[in-house]
Amino acid sequence: MSQAPRAITIVGASLAGLNAAEALRREGFDGPVALIGAESHLPYDRPPLSKQVLAGDWEPERAALTDSEELEEDGIEARLGVRATALDLAAHELTLHTGETVAFDGLVIATGARCRTMPGTEGLDGVHVLRSLDDCLALRADLEAMPQRVVVVGAGFIGAEVAATARGRGLDVTLVEALPTPLSRVLGDEMGQVCGEVHRDHGVDLRTGVGVDRISGDGRVQQVTLSDGSTVDADVVVVGIGVIPNTEWLDGSGLEMGDGVLCDASCLAAEGVTAAGDVASWPNELFDETMRVEHWDNAAQQGSHAAGGGTVHSGALVLERPVRPQDPAGRPRPRRRRGPGGDGIGRGAAFRGNLRSSRTHHRGARVQPAPSRDALPGTDRAAGQFRRGPRR
Ligand SMILES: Cc1cc2nc3c(=O)[nH]c(=O)nc-3n(C[C@H](O)[C@H](O)[C@H](O)COP(=O)(O)OP(=O)(O)OC[C@H]3O[C@@H](n4cnc5c(N)ncnc54)[C@H](O)[C@@H]3O)c2cc1C
Repeated sequence: MSQAPRAITIVGASLAGLNAAEALRREGFDGPVALIGAESHLPYDRPPLSKQVLAGDWEPERAALTDSEELEEDGIEARLGVRATALDLAAHELTLHTGETVAFDGLVIATGARCRTMPGTEGLDGVHVLRSLDDCLALRADLEAMPQRVVVVGAGFIGAEVAATARGRGLDVTLVEALPTPLSRVLGDEMGQVCGEVHRDHGVDLRTGVGVDRISGDGRVQQVTLSDGSTVDADVVVVGIGVIPNTEWLDGSGLEMGDGVLCDASCLAAEGVTAAGDVASWPNELFDETMRVEHWDNAAQQGSHAAGGGTVHSGALVLERPVRPQDPAGRPRPRRRRGPGGDGIGRGAAFRGNLRSSRTHHRGARVQPAPSRDALPGTDRAAGQFRRGPRR
């Protein structure tokens, strides 16, 4: 693109998208900026959804990342409840679910990811995933009804946090993890074991090395059948088995797809088109690997970078410097380069605390079930030029 973009459209009105819009204004872009989001809510922060909001300590409003007045002041047009369904790269045009088309000069793709689900659970009451505020409020309502038995499938970050929060509400929780050690892929075996012990110490029934074959019930969930043939009674089930990047709307657009939207080290996916946040797959020089990173810092920084980067006013939605490398587990830069599937990266550098006492801190966040507001990294903390938000 040889001329400065006159209008920039951002698809995905969440952390990366909002940071993109604000970076444009911060850097002096004075053309129209439209933020198109499928959810009906103004941009909000997701980390409190498995913690303070789910625990009932915060009302949802407290997770808001912005408000209408702020957006209006910044001249950012938020189009909410609107889904982009197609991209015509050559014409620089988007199609929305309403059938309307939107022309753009510069496009930032920030459509994030959605939860994987367990087949056969569609329409079964009491089975939840947790990605959006609506998911969180539906799950919170079910937890407030004081179910007898909560089963969480998957002890990754989200599953572990949900188990801790549900346990903190005094509920009986079974946490089922297919790996022998929870979180071992991101934290390593030793730290994973510590996390598992902390859950057990707090009364979570942690079952490891076993998968889930079936979630069943008559209208409402009643039972989870594990791969070893055993069954666990359940009134509420939360499925936390990972996410899928939201790229289907880009099928046939000509953009290159891998695990997400493939872009270069500066977030550029095609001329005038960048991608940022959970949906972006880019060469992360920290690992010499092309990857997606599902992490708050990554989404905030890439959003700013993908839209701004200091080059928008000088002629193109093209970035001159690569985005900062990121660790999928949010750990500090390791001393040695290791792949993300390794047995732990710079573990000594990532944690401080006492393994024996199970009181550990991950970048300032205490690892424990049933986190209280005080024990969690504060969402009120300003994160430099980025929107406020906690780190794991
Ligand atoms: C419950 C929970 C807790 C978390 N806790 C932490 C934590 O403690 N620490 C941490 O670092 N990270 C945490 N994360 C991860 C972090 O929140 C994400 O990395 C971050 O939200 C990614 O931001 P994003 O803007 O890239 O994508 P998303 O936040 O997924 O937003 C994408 C948006 O795009 C919209 N969209 C999708 N398709 C379309 C379309 N076709 N048209 C229009 N809009 C579309 C979606 O509806 C969504 O609103 C957590 C995530 C969750 C779900």
